[in-house]
Amino acid sequence: MVDNGRNSSSARRARQRAIRAEMARTGDPYNVVARRHDEREEPRREAKQAARKMPIARCPRCRQAEVHIDEQPSCPGCGAVWESGAELAGEYAEEILGLNSYTWVKDGGEEPTAECPDCGEQAVVSIQPGDTTFWTMMCMSCESLFNDRCTRCSAPQHREDGDLIICTTCWNDVVSRS
Ligand SMILES: [Zn+2]
Ligand SMILES: [Zn+2]
Ligand SMILES: [Zn+2]
Repeated sequence: MVDNGRNSSSARRARQRAIRAEMARTGDPYNVVARRHDEREEPRREAKQAARKMPIARCPRCRQAEVHIDEQPSCPGCGAVWESGAELAGEYAEEILGLNSYTWVKDGGEEPTAECPDCGEQAVVSIQPGDTTFWTMMCMSCESLFNDRCTRCSAPQHREDGDLIICTTCWNDVVSRS
């Protein structure tokens, strides 16, 4: 089946709606609910991932194994465990991408980690260039994938063909000013 842009972005919105509703019902945080939701939807998700080739987030310590994203992410290869997705993202940015907040503040360039528009964690990193597929950024906390940034505030975005590259926050801001 051809996965056209319209279908996948409406599927994503449906997922967000389902997750928000479950969060309201259960009071659980986003990443917990999202994982539970995706485990239920696993067969569908796997088909979609296969179609788009998931990027590989390699362990920043052993640089071999693929990290397992969880509430406390871990590496099945070297046994490293991180306290949070944000902590792993910071280490990934520093070790794999050679970016850290100190040089970013001082010299500019690419922000080491970005805030995830889906889960709110400062855990989005660029994927190692050699492992890049359709997606170029990944959240180390909720595994959301991104392939572009908002042209106004540079928040990570999911771009589908024909979409305007501006995030919801900026869009609402623009609308409220006009
Ligand atoms: Zn490792
Ligand atoms: Zn996230
Ligand atoms: Zn924006």
